[in-house]
Order: sequence, then C-alpha cells, then structure tokens
Amino acid sequence: MTTFNYYFPDNLDFVDPKFNGITNEKTKNHRKYDDDAYPHEILKDLPYNGMLVSLAGVGTMQKKGKYYTQELTEDFYYYGAKKFLRLDNDKFKNVLLMGDCGAFDYVNEPEPPYTLDELIEFYERGGFDCGISLDHIVFQYAKDDEALNKIPYADIREAERRINITLKNAEEFYIKTHQDDPKKRKFIAYGVAHGFDKESFISSVKKLEEIGYRHITIGGMIKSKTPDLLDLLETLSTTKSAETQFHLLGICRFENIPAYAKYGVTSADSTSPLMQGIKAGKYFDFNDESHELIQSLSIRIRQCDHENVQKLIDKHRNGIRNLVSQMLANNEIDIDLSNKALSTNECVKRLESDCIKKLIKYDANGEGFESTFKALMAYEKVTTPDYLVKEMTSVKKATLAKDKHRVHNFLRERPWKNCSCGICESGIMNIVFRSNQTNRRRGIHNLAMVTKHKDKVIDVLKNAEVEA
Ligand SMILES: [Zn+2]
Ligand SMILES: [Zn+2]
Repeated sequence: MTTFNYYFPDNLDFVDPKFNGITNEKTKNHRKYDDDAYPHEILKDLPYNGMLVSLAGVGTMQKKGKYYTQELTEDFYYYGAKKFLRLDNDKFKNVLLMGDCGAFDYVNEPEPPYTLDELIEFYERGGFDCGISLDHIVFQYAKDDEALNKIPYADIREAERRINITLKNAEEFYIKTHQDDPKKRKFIAYGVAHGFDKESFISSVKKLEEIGYRHITIGGMIKSKTPDLLDLLETLSTTKSAETQFHLLGICRFENIPAYAKYGVTSADSTSPLMQGIKAGKYFDFNDESHELIQSLSIRIRQCDHENVQKLIDKHRNGIRNLVSQMLANNEIDIDLSNKALSTNECVKRLESDCIKKLIKYDANGEGFESTFKALMAYEKVTTPDYLVKEMTSVKKATLAKDKHRVHNFLRERPWKNCSCGICESGIMNIVFRSNQTNRRRGIHNLAMVTKHKDKVIDVLKNAEVEA
C-alpha cells in the first residue's frame, strides 16, 4: 500500500501565539519556548506526519546543541521528545518521531563529534519511533562517468573515507540496537547510504541490507538536481531488496511523490515549505482540480521602523524624495505628501500607514482593490533598493515587473480568505511579508498546505492501486 510520511525537522521554529498583526500586540515579557507555540499548536490539523529531531541540534549534557540552550536540552532529555514538543495529546496520537544525528551541522569536521552510545541514549530517552545511524555526509555526486572524471582523486578518497565511517557506524549501531528481545526494542533503526556516484550508492545500500537494515535513508543529495535524484532512486529501486524502504534526508520536493512511491521512498524530511515562506515570501495554495501546488508571492509591507528600512532611508534620502515627487506627478500616490516640510522618513511612514489602513479594509470587505494595490506599490517602491538605483537594467526591470504582476494576482485573488488552516482566518496582516512573526506564520501555513496536498496525491495513488 502506498504511503508517504512527511517529517518536519525541529529547529525550534515557533511563533508567539498572542501576536496580532493588526494591533502589533505580543506576549509581554515573552519567554522563548515557554510562551511560544509550535506549528501544530496553532494550526487546526497536524501539518506533518512526524517531526525529526537531531542530536546536533539538541546536544547532550556535555556537548552544547546548535539550537537548544542548556536548559532546553535538560528538559528535552527529562520529558522526552513527545512531551517536549507538546505532541503528547490525543489529537496527535499518530504522530511519528524520528531521531537523527544532524550530520549537516558537523559536515566540516573530520569525524562525527558524537559516539554511538550518545546517539542511542538520545533516541531512547527521547522516546523516538525511528532512529537514524551516525553518518558523515558526502556532498559530491557525479551523475555519470563524465562528471565522475572531473572529481579530483583526493575528493573521491575523502568521500570513500566518509562512506566507510558511515557503514562502520551502521554495523555497530545495528548490533547495539538489536541485542535485546525484539519486543523490548524501542525504535526502528535506519541505516544511512552515502555515495559519490550511482555505483557507490548501490554498494552502500547493499551493505546496509547485508547488515540487516530494511529502512535506509538516502543522504547527501540535498544539492542534487531533481532529474539526477530521480535517476538515482530509480536505479536503487531495481537493486534494493523488495522490503527495503527509503527515507530522503533533507529533501522533499513534493511534486515528485508519485515517482517516490514507485521507487520505494516512503518518507522524507524538509524545512523547505517553511523557509520558502519565511525567506522568499511564498504563500502556498493548492488546486484541488489539477492537483497542483501553487506558489504565490505574498504582499510585502516592510516595517518602516526596522533598521534595514531606516538604513535605506539614510542612504537614499534624495533618491526617495525624487521618487515620491515623480510618483505624485504620475498619480501613483493617493495621499497628500506635497508639504515640503515633511521629512523623508515621515513621507515613507505615511505611505506605510496608508497601505496598512487600505489593506485591512480590503481584507475585511473586498472593496478598494485598485487603491490598495496602488498604495502597496508606492510603498514597495520607496522601500526597495532596486527601485532606487539611477539606472535600472532591463533584466532588473523584467524581474520587478514579474513580481509586481504576482503581487497583483495575490491581492486580487485573496487566497488566504479561502484558507481554514487556523492562521489565515485572522487576516492578511498576520501572514503578510513583514515581520518575523508574520513571515513565520506564512511559512507555517505552507506546511499545512503541502501536507494537505500530499495526502490528496497519496489518496489518488491508492485509488489507482485499488482499481488496477
Ligand atoms: Zn493535489
Ligand atoms: Zn492558511
């Protein structure tokens, strides 16, 4: 039966649940973690099948983790992953917890900085359902012989050394976790396959199967191009044992799920939907009819008081004044900024207030689309460095025109009005491209969308199986 589980990697990505994008209210004397909410706490439905937590992120009592403070690390070991992540209630009873060593965080070190015993203790005390063996990443990947010939010999040697470390650890990890009575076994052990070309991946998978693994993660392919990744997976699917299931480490690329299903990939983890929201301003939506995930570009209203905008104003004081005069002459601004006594900062501030006021009204009743879009574009222009340069290249012009068109569509279609994820209901000002809180909320909405979409795709694949 077709399954595909999406794991969301834990990097302490949470939001202040008391934040209000209209009033700018926040939790007073906000404490990190205690006063924060995880994505699953503010969304209506669990936005992933499970979470992936890494030892390198959490750390141990002796070795500080990358993301966790000492206090959070202690709490994590004391309460276990489920309780710490606040997944310990009935609503989340099917949630899966996967533990990983977090090899990305020590990729530049010669050896993994953790021992197998530290890793196993982390998995057991964390109460994980699945635990991945201690690996060392090989990033280089040659899709064919021609590419392989271009990799320097020393790099191949280094890749082989890392593959050997990974396989040796996998063997010991398997033995250590399979000594007891199978009934007492606490988690499913996953081996990691690394490789620098197809041959070395095939050989890694074969060795892991010989050790006894039937759950194998494919590592190090995060930088690969999709056709190369799928080509590798197709090859591995023909050489692996029938029961072996693959997990993709750090890659999801949800549009490939039907291909994954064919090649025995049953799970993956990725922060991409969240990051695309936070950093790139993307707002995901999906079309039920065409089964397509749509990536819209959200409206942006930079915070005028933010230091980045203040720096921009300092740098382009005259440029902004000239642009404002020009826009006033071209009827691109609806508010009165003709008073010469206004400072540049006041002009920008007034443009910001104007678009917020209009956007809130448009969000509430759908009225004033044109004037809202006009106000948004006026503010976007005075706060975007690309609009303030003296000579704009044609390439830049084309990019800006494209973004303008995308924002226009987003504003006209108001996709957030049809979304019932648990975040979008509180309005555009909570998901607009603006502040850490609003950007995170948009990213979290994206998590809900990819999972909803993924479940639909899997349903279709299952129905096709039944019919066949
Ligand atoms: Zn779909
Ligand atoms: Zn939503």
